[in-house]
Amino acid sequence: MVPKRWRDLRFCSSVEVGRYGKNLSGTERLRCRDCRKIWTPQPKSRALTPEKEAAIVRALAERTSQRGIARTFGVSRDTVRTLRKKTQTESHE
Ligand SMILES: [Zn+2]
Repeated sequence: MVPKRWRDLRFCSSVEVGRYGKNLSGTERLRCRDCRKIWTPQPKSRALTPEKEAAIVRALAERTSQRGIARTFGVSRDTVRTLRKKTQTESHE
């Protein structure tokens, strides 16, 4: 069983849903074992606009706490962590 929030009745009503790797942006993908449909449970584009992402990256650069950023921007701390990882990977300083 996977978390209930992962189920998306728009795609499939089956409970036989399992992890199916990740997409390019690192979001978990799911696959239904009944109909073999594959989808992404929580597309990031909906919550996180490029503008918001840039603002969060700036806040991270200013060493604002992740908790504070999550609260300020209304995103999950996972999102903040993911962005921080991304900036660290891309930075060569
Ligand atoms: Zn299905």
